[in-house]
Amino acid sequence: MGNSTVSNLDDNASAAAAPVPAWPPAQLPTSPVLSLASFGHASAPAVPSILDAPERRYVTSGRVAIALALRQAGVQPGDAVLVPAYHCASMVEPVIWAGATPVFYRIKADTAVDLDDVAGKLDGRCKLLMATNYFGFPQDLPALRAFCDAHGLQLLEDCAHAFLGSVGGRPLGSWGDYAIASSMKFFPLYEGGCLVSARHPLATVQLQSAGAGFEIKSMLNTLESGWGYGRMPVLRALSWAPLQLKAVLWRLLKARRRADAAPLAPGSSDGGFSFDPRWLDKRSSLMSRLMLRLVSRRRMGALRRRHYQQLQNALGQLPGCQPLFAQLPDGVYPWVFPLKVEQPQALFRTLKSRGVPVVRFGEFLWPGVDASVCANSVTLSRQVLQLPCHQELRASELAWMIAQVRSAVEASAA
Ligand SMILES: *Cc1c(COP(=O)(O)O)cnc(C)c1O
Repeated sequence: MGNSTVSNLDDNASAAAAPVPAWPPAQLPTSPVLSLASFGHASAPAVPSILDAPERRYVTSGRVAIALALRQAGVQPGDAVLVPAYHCASMVEPVIWAGATPVFYRIKADTAVDLDDVAGKLDGRCKLLMATNYFGFPQDLPALRAFCDAHGLQLLEDCAHAFLGSVGGRPLGSWGDYAIASSMKFFPLYEGGCLVSARHPLATVQLQSAGAGFEIKSMLNTLESGWGYGRMPVLRALSWAPLQLKAVLWRLLKARRRADAAPLAPGSSDGGFSFDPRWLDKRSSLMSRLMLRLVSRRRMGALRRRHYQQLQNALGQLPGCQPLFAQLPDGVYPWVFPLKVEQPQALFRTLKSRGVPVVRFGEFLWPGVDASVCANSVTLSRQVLQLPCHQELRASELAWMIAQVRSAVEASAA
């Protein structure tokens, strides 16, 4: 993938892509990192989650879970899968892997599935509708369920942005035939995704261990992720000697491995979008599965909402900026704070160059997906910048990020 896609932030984007600039490292963690506070129980109420589904399988990424869902749903080569035009490549790669054709459907300006457009695209080849609960804000899932039932489609709920929450009194993930999540987007994990179902058994999904090297790497990288941002200094000091040992062992291990040996850990953990079928039947590490149990979901839900609200209060009224969603409804637990910006180009670059961990979902749309396919998706992928609101942000980090965005917006308005 990578090389063939072009960031649509450039107006003159062409196949001859300019090299992606190397930004300085982020000054605060883009996604949750481990700290001792991660385990604390906030005095917040329990939160529904995708893990409430009776059938669950823990794999190494959300994209692997998508591939398994397609397999369970019986998607065959020659079938078509309805995929939103607003997407990342890791949602499309498993469809291609399954031998199916992605049919890109429109979404509305507020990210809702455009069911009229979907209806117009249906033909005998369409087996499954993939619907994303963008940024943690659920789709109208009862309507999607009814539509799929009426048209003989299976529904795959993409909860990569929506680990927590419910619609109509039922947890996210229970409306689809299958649902997937990217656990590493919500929890302090090096790797992790899950496939769940409230409607079909998953007994035929048999997973194997990915080996001792993978288990060790996942554990150490989870611990080290926190140390990199100054969490857990005591543990870091205590671990100095073991880490020296690790460095030595690692070099030995690498020297012994054949050049063509399978990688120790999946590329999905390093920020890429590609899909590697070698990880299809691999179980998530013990460390990740342990963290999924131990990390407090109440605290996660409460702090994500609080941080989101702080970002909205501080940034929602800036000139040329508007929160993508006017309100944060009860029961929504956001992944990030999406801010719609009239002139995103300069702001994105300024923030990146200052080490603000701003991201743009959909930055690289699948080749051929342009304004003629879905103008809203192109606009969203260009204009919506996302700032982290995860539970591990410190008050000082949030304040710094807010100050950076304010000053960058004011500079560009001046
Ligand atoms: C990240 C993401 C995925 C894939 O999850 P990974 O864990 O990165 O494989 C799927 N769908 C959406 C909407 C995502 O943002």
